[in-house]
Formats: sequence, structure tokens, C-alpha cells
Amino acid sequence: MNNQFTRRRFLAAATATGVRLMLPRGLAAVEKPARVTICNPLLRTPLSLIIDDSCPVINKAYYWIKQRHDWRLRHHPNSRPSGWEKHYDKLNLMPNTIPAAFAEQWAQWCAEQGIKGKFSMIPFPAGVGRIDKGFPGFPPGELTEWLRVTKEIIWKNFDLTPEMLTHTRVVDLKTWQLTEEWEQGAWVDPPVELLTDYIATAMQLLKNVGIACEGVTSPGVFGKRKEAAYARAVLDAALQVNNNPRPFYFLWLKHGELPDVPIWHADKAKGVAVASIVSCAGDWFGATGYDVADPDLFITKDLHGGRLPAVLAKQRPCVLVGHWPCFYVNEQVGFKVLKEVKRRLDAYDPDKTRTLWMKNSEIGHYWMARQLSELRVQEDAKGQQRSIHITTKYPTDNFTVKVHDWAAHRARVNGTDLRQVKSQRDFRSGVFLVEGKETCVAFDLPIGETIVTVSR
Ligand SMILES: [Zn+2]
Repeated sequence: MNNQFTRRRFLAAATATGVRLMLPRGLAAVEKPARVTICNPLLRTPLSLIIDDSCPVINKAYYWIKQRHDWRLRHHPNSRPSGWEKHYDKLNLMPNTIPAAFAEQWAQWCAEQGIKGKFSMIPFPAGVGRIDKGFPGFPPGELTEWLRVTKEIIWKNFDLTPEMLTHTRVVDLKTWQLTEEWEQGAWVDPPVELLTDYIATAMQLLKNVGIACEGVTSPGVFGKRKEAAYARAVLDAALQVNNNPRPFYFLWLKHGELPDVPIWHADKAKGVAVASIVSCAGDWFGATGYDVADPDLFITKDLHGGRLPAVLAKQRPCVLVGHWPCFYVNEQVGFKVLKEVKRRLDAYDPDKTRTLWMKNSEIGHYWMARQLSELRVQEDAKGQQRSIHITTKYPTDNFTVKVHDWAAHRARVNGTDLRQVKSQRDFRSGVFLVEGKETCVAFDLPIGETIVTVSR
């Protein structure tokens, strides 16, 4: 059963990236297509958990709903509430704060479970307080604790990103006052000339408390109508603030089509690019705590139905999204869904041969390496040794290549022998695996040139 599955996966992955075999000069100039394939990392499908709307101290949903309600009455008094504002009547049920002690408990559980992903850290949430200056009206110890938990526990397994500055109204950077525009309203089509500064400011506030963020999260549809300019601004801001040449952003949820990892603004000579991390599922954890919360929409009890098995079957990055408030409010409704979904994902992949939890940045870096590295394949005249020359400025862990129609008895990376393993269960970076006529090799890919040699 397992072997059959592995076999199917190999065949599907083989169609992803074909590399032509270049015969050495002097031999017949025949090019054979698709002799080497770059596969998913360690032949496993990435899983990742995105947490949105998280911030220190406050429950952002509470303030978002309040501010949206007040704003609508000021500007469109005859309109009906939409989105989360429809929960205005439940504000008395929602706490306005989420304690650091809960974040610690949540993050420790995720760490024990091996869950990885991205955790937003909104730097000036709802304009209530700046992460680098404090939250007036709240005990100062809470911010200190939040920063400790974020940096010491959450950051180990989750990338940290701003979700722009407030996730409610746009900030006038000259006065630090909130304007009447919304980050996810008017700035769906943002003023391009202000964009890099705005994003860089969000990153800088995190940097002021010792967090060099790995990317950014769009509050709602922020930037969506000018994605190319938005992606450019994220890259420029990441370079400017954190000297990070390969950041990511999270903007898209795609329920109806297969997710991919689009790479924008690649400059191969400089090794810069920005990845768009796309989620494949809706927030069925409960969002505010009072929205749809249903593990079956992710993966049904029999492990066949729901969105995730469909995406995993196609071996596409399987990125889940949950909004932070639901994990705490309404008796931790979202946390209960997460625990159930994780139990089912573990049952789906009991020996951990099919899936691999990754941070968003790790997925971004892998797909950059996959799409932007140069591969050249050479075979010796006797047909006993094949060399794959990889040149890249896009490093990644767990780079995995498959050599087709080539059962190797020896594999080396830059002259160093790799250990052979007999099953997918043991397949990790620094080993090779032969299955039938195919050889898979996994290693950490550095900047520069790497030579993989497989001999038979
Ligand atoms: Zn959000």
C-alpha cells in the first residue's frame, strides 16, 4: 500500500520539472528530456499553518468590529454591517485581550506536535498600542511576556510577520494618527508611492523589539489589485530593514483551484526574489470565535473528504489559515478544531512519509531554489556515472532530486559520500534512496555550485 503510494507520488512529481541531459562534447549531440527532476522536499508534501490577526496583548477582532461599526455609522449610516461587524452584538462575549499565558500554552502544544508555519505579529494593532512602546491601559507586564513567548517559543517553529501596521485603519506616518482609510479597504488598491515606506515601517517596529521578520501578511485584501507593485514593495522593504533578499508575503486563499508558490521579481544575478505563499483552505477554525468551525471541512473523520486530502493527493503545498482570536475565545473553539485536524492529519500520514511541516519561509526558499537554480546533467562515456551540476543563488534545506532510469549504488555531493537508505521513512537530507530504476538524493543546497554524482 505504502509502496504503491510512493510510486504514484514519484510519477506525479516527475512531471514537475524536467531537465535535459547534456552529453559531453564529442559524443552524439543527443538530448534526452527529463532525466533529472526536482521533487518536493524529501519527497513529502509541505504542510504549513498560518495564524493571522495575532498581536501582542489585545484581541484584534474585538477592536476591528468596534472600529468598523463606528466607521460605518460615520460614513455609511444606512448600510448594513458586513464581514466580522455582523458580530457587533457579541462584543460583550469577546474579551478585548488575549493573555500571553495562553499564547505560551498554544505555542508549546504546537511545538510538541511538530506544527510549523507563520504567526502574525501586528506591530500597532488597531492603533491601540505600539509593540515597541506599550499598550496604554493594559498591564505593562503583558507586553513583556508576549514578547518573551513570541521570541522564545513561537518563533522557533513559525515565521513572524507584521500584518501591516494596524490591520484596521491606515496610519498617517507623519502624525501616527489613524486615517479614515482601511488597510484592507481603500488599500486593496494602495498608493504605490507610499507602499514601501508603509511596509518598511511595519517591519521596523518589529525590528525595534528584536524581531527581524521573514516576510509580511496582507491584512485582508491589502495590495491585491496591485500585486506586482505590492510584491516589489515587500522585497524592497525586506532588503532595506532586514537585509533579507528572499522574503515572502501571504495574500491569497484559493479554495477552488490547486495552490502553487508564485515567485515574483527574481533577479538571478543578485539572488533576490519574493515568494507568494498561497493558502488552500478557508478559516474553518472559527475566525472571530463565532464563525464556521468545522474540522470536517479540512479533513473528514474517514480521512478521504474535505479540502486537505484533495490538495495532498496532488502534492501541492497544503497551507492552512486560522485567525488567532478563535483559538482563545468562545471556549477555545478554534484550538479544539486544530487539535482534531492535527489528529486526523497524523492518521493520514502515520509514519510521516507523505507530509512535512514547514515554515512559510522554508516553502518560499524551496520553491525559489526549485525554479531559479540552473541544473546541468552530464554522463560519462561508459554510461556508469552521471553528474548533476547545480548552480544557484537560492539556498534551501532538503533539496531533493530524482535521477530517472538510474539505479545508483553510490551517490556523492561535492565528493562526499551519502548514506543509502532503504525506505522513504528514513529519507532525509544527506542520504539517497533507490526505488526500482530511480535514485533520489536529498541534501542542503548552498549558494554557489554543487555537484551531485550518482554511479551505478
Ligand atoms: Zn488578518
